[in-house]
Amino acid sequence: MSVIPRKLLLLILVSLVCVLFILMYGAQLQRGDEIIPNTETSTQSPQKQETCPSLRSYPADIETSNVFPTLDLTPSWMSRREFWGNEYEDRYVRRKSMWAHLPLRVIVMPHSHNDPGWLKTVEGYFALSTKSILTNIVNKLTEHKNMTFIWSEASYMFMWWEGADTEARNKLRVLLDSGRLEITTGGWVMTDEANVDFFSMVDQLVEGHEFMRRELGVVPSSSWSVDSFGHGGAFPHLLAKSEINNMVIMRIHYAWKEWLARHQNGDFLWKQSWEKDGNSAPLCHNFPYDIYSIKHSCGPNPQTCLGFDFRHLDGEYNEFTAHYSPINQGNLKERAELLLEQYGRTGSLLPHNVVLVPLGDDFRYSNELEFDQQYSNYIKIMEHINSGKYNAHISFGTLKDYFSEVRSRMNEFPTLTGDFHVYSDIFSEGRPAYWSGYYFTRPYTKLLSRQVSSKLRGVEILYSIAMGMARRSDFDLPLSALVSMYKNLVSARRSLALFQHHDAITGTSKGFVMDDYEQKLDNALEVVNGMEVVLVHYLIQERQQEIILNRPLLHTNRRNKGENWQEETVLHISSAKEHKIVLFNSLAHPVYRAGHLQTNNANLCVYNEEQDLVDSQISPVFNITGKPSLSFQSFNVWFGVELEALSIAVYTVKECTEARKPTKVYCKKCRNSEKYGSFHLKSIPDGAIQLENQIYKLLFDPESRLLNNVTNKVNGVSKQINLDFSSYTSQFYRSGAYLFAVEMINGVPTETKLFSLNNIVETIIVSGPIFSELKVLWQVTGVGGIATFLHTVRLYHDTGPLSEAIHIENQFDFGPSPNFRDTEFFMRFETDVKNGEENLIFTDQAGLGMVRRVNAEQAGLEGNYFPVTESVYIEDDESRLTLLIDHASGVSSRGEGLLEIMVDKRTMNDDARGMGEGVLDSRRTLHRYTLLMEPISPKSEKNSETIPFLSPLALRLSRYLEHPLTSFIGIEKNQKLVNKRGLINSALPCDYDLVNLRTWSPKDASNPSHALLILRRLAPDCSWSSLTVSDCLDPTSVPDIKFSNVSAFFQPTSLTGNHRVSQPYIFKLSPMEISSYNVTFT
Ligand SMILES: [Zn+2]
Repeated sequence: MSVIPRKLLLLILVSLVCVLFILMYGAQLQRGDEIIPNTETSTQSPQKQETCPSLRSYPADIETSNVFPTLDLTPSWMSRREFWGNEYEDRYVRRKSMWAHLPLRVIVMPHSHNDPGWLKTVEGYFALSTKSILTNIVNKLTEHKNMTFIWSEASYMFMWWEGADTEARNKLRVLLDSGRLEITTGGWVMTDEANVDFFSMVDQLVEGHEFMRRELGVVPSSSWSVDSFGHGGAFPHLLAKSEINNMVIMRIHYAWKEWLARHQNGDFLWKQSWEKDGNSAPLCHNFPYDIYSIKHSCGPNPQTCLGFDFRHLDGEYNEFTAHYSPINQGNLKERAELLLEQYGRTGSLLPHNVVLVPLGDDFRYSNELEFDQQYSNYIKIMEHINSGKYNAHISFGTLKDYFSEVRSRMNEFPTLTGDFHVYSDIFSEGRPAYWSGYYFTRPYTKLLSRQVSSKLRGVEILYSIAMGMARRSDFDLPLSALVSMYKNLVSARRSLALFQHHDAITGTSKGFVMDDYEQKLDNALEVVNGMEVVLVHYLIQERQQEIILNRPLLHTNRRNKGENWQEETVLHISSAKEHKIVLFNSLAHPVYRAGHLQTNNANLCVYNEEQDLVDSQISPVFNITGKPSLSFQSFNVWFGVELEALSIAVYTVKECTEARKPTKVYCKKCRNSEKYGSFHLKSIPDGAIQLENQIYKLLFDPESRLLNNVTNKVNGVSKQINLDFSSYTSQFYRSGAYLFAVEMINGVPTETKLFSLNNIVETIIVSGPIFSELKVLWQVTGVGGIATFLHTVRLYHDTGPLSEAIHIENQFDFGPSPNFRDTEFFMRFETDVKNGEENLIFTDQAGLGMVRRVNAEQAGLEGNYFPVTESVYIEDDESRLTLLIDHASGVSSRGEGLLEIMVDKRTMNDDARGMGEGVLDSRRTLHRYTLLMEPISPKSEKNSETIPFLSPLALRLSRYLEHPLTSFIGIEKNQKLVNKRGLINSALPCDYDLVNLRTWSPKDASNPSHALLILRRLAPDCSWSSLTVSDCLDPTSVPDIKFSNVSAFFQPTSLTGNHRVSQPYIFKLSPMEISSYNVTFT
């Protein structure tokens, strides 16, 4: 027996403690694991934190916004559609001579690309193909012991799992445990990366990961995102935050493909600009060829590759069956060497000589025979190569295998910052086809998705807190009722998640499939609305002893921001009765907003929760269908609302007994009248129109009635801002759901004004204590019928952040097809902002941060349109023009001072990218924008190293636009409600955002409830003056999050809850940090 010296023993003990600590905090959750709370109370950082630290950017080896404008976008090889040429061939020959020292390693990776909806609905595909594909994977991988496969979409895996018997489920688990079947990404869908907002992108990942972890015991570590049309900068960061450290992308601009190949930079660390180095960035592999089909994946020569697709089914004739040549003893050597040459060429594009060869295509392996055919042919080739003296080794493998092989050969990779929008292919015609069309295809459903996501977030938070409260209550019923509602919540999450698929929110599915998605989103909206009324009512009751499931409240508007006033619930008020309005603020910050409802009574007063009279203004509803007119039966009531962070309050409305300042309503045909008391009608005056509040003075053109000048009174600077609506003419068959291509004459895009002066049918000005606004209505008679455009510009008079912006609404209805055929519509701001000759423009990246976009002249109009989900700005040394939007679209700066945002399209023909239809179903959509002209602060210390970001004011207003107030009526007189209920102990600091508080699947009413809390801190740019968000400039305490009447423990986790992580001070985040916590309500 040996004696361990005392000193060494101590060392071992210390090491053991360290190892245990790391294990505990670095642990990956296993199948069926419950989320175990950290029982220690959170340790708060004692010091205050700066709320507006400027965050510097760190350069990457490859900055996409700098490199892209330098690329040759019309290279000589374009017409042959492949970049491979002599230079590449020479390099390959040199590389091959080195194989003895750097052997070629090839991972052949069977895969099947399954779109959850495109040419068929998700259910249609599942029934006809995907169900058999997954069954075949399970059976054939069990049979062929060295074959592998990857699977990405949790949505389809869930459908299969639900119908699978125990034996099939067990087989699947065995394959997953063995690693031969790898779940890649594991999101609910393979998300689009241009149109998807931050919340929805995260939520579909959490939903997929929860299913994978809970049911299959799988925690993905690699990502396969190969069909989204261009790749955004937010997704890699979300992957890294979920501890997915390896990823593959595919559809990027052909010039990028060539550049990365030329520089052997196809594997890079995709870091964010605020990250010092690539240490926490995912390793990204750009697949070097066009797409993932076998024709394009074995090497640079598609014609050769076609011969290595061994699927050969009776009755199937196409380009690969024409090349069908199965492997036999006679041709084995020659064929294997031919394929090896292709693999070797691919290997020469990367420094490490490891090659990933995807083996599959859309909905492949639906037939058992295909599995056998691909397997038996490839295995012969592999055995031949591996046994020969080729200095090469080929095997089936997964992404994990590829990346571990790469990382074993290399540990230094270049870093890259930025993204790969706009995508362009050349494979169809040998000339550029820019995929910026889908940024604005079908805006109605893009907007609907955002409305559902905002609603869902609010309901998730309400539900989690209500669950916590109900668990502590002495009454059993509410808790079991809440548990029974959980399945509805899951269905809503999944409908929203499904729509983030790269053929759904993009608008690139066939019309009937889009209808199916819309139906699902509508159902989700119904579900979350149904839950919201129950939850809000439960939380605002005096005693939470009962829960009313049968619509205890009514929404004043089911979407908060409806296209249709007929969606409004009109509050009928008789003289004696007082009515309650319940208001819900889902933001974790206090808000100063305008509440709205419609009533039959023009003489109303509104009182807040303290029974104090609040400002209000009343005007007749403007009916724009048919012959436009003001309604004197229903009235819009707007009133000032002040709500605490994450709170519910009860306001009161009753007939007025006090004298109030009347609202002035001007219209073209209004005769002067004061008979309504609460508003006076006046005839519109001639000449220029001016709107003014304490911050802005807006001037409108006397004829067109459109904005043409803005003065910000804070610094007294006037800027020319000419707002205009116009359209481009689509190129036949080259512009459509995916692509954007504009008719040009002598290099100039053809442009047509959307309407003329003659089309103005009404102008209305409303001015009251809450706001002043101008509405202009145009009607245009087209071939199919009447098109109606209602444009509203509004200035608020309160003293909150709303008053520091110009609020624009465009309710556009292009009328029945073929009105405005082959037309793409946009709104343009022509300003004197000097954003430079490069037309510098900053756009958000799926809401994560802002990215700098430099005009690339060669890419033309279509290649300089960028995706935007929340915000865009242009700036000079004096001012910044920020446009906030409520749904995804495309934006561009086509010249100095210009900012264009696409609105909608109607393209009659298909653009030959697979959908097979034009886009004819545009319909009435309400597009909302917030416009800010912000003056530079005298204290600005702005420098070129600071990361670009919205100002604190713009950030706050962006949250306002994203999350409207929700209001409810219909409270019975006998119901006892508290005046207000705060759901969180204190507001979050200005630059923090409560992304979500999302309940994990509750087992039953007797177990504690768990939720995932997602927080993030942003990095607002405080160089811009504002009067109303001064709190954003003061140091604040690190938040100490407590939910009212509920106690909770918090355990830091990776973004989607898959890994426990350590955090020195809970809730203390660095700027731009995203952090998740498992919450246990006790
Ligand atoms: Zn796809």
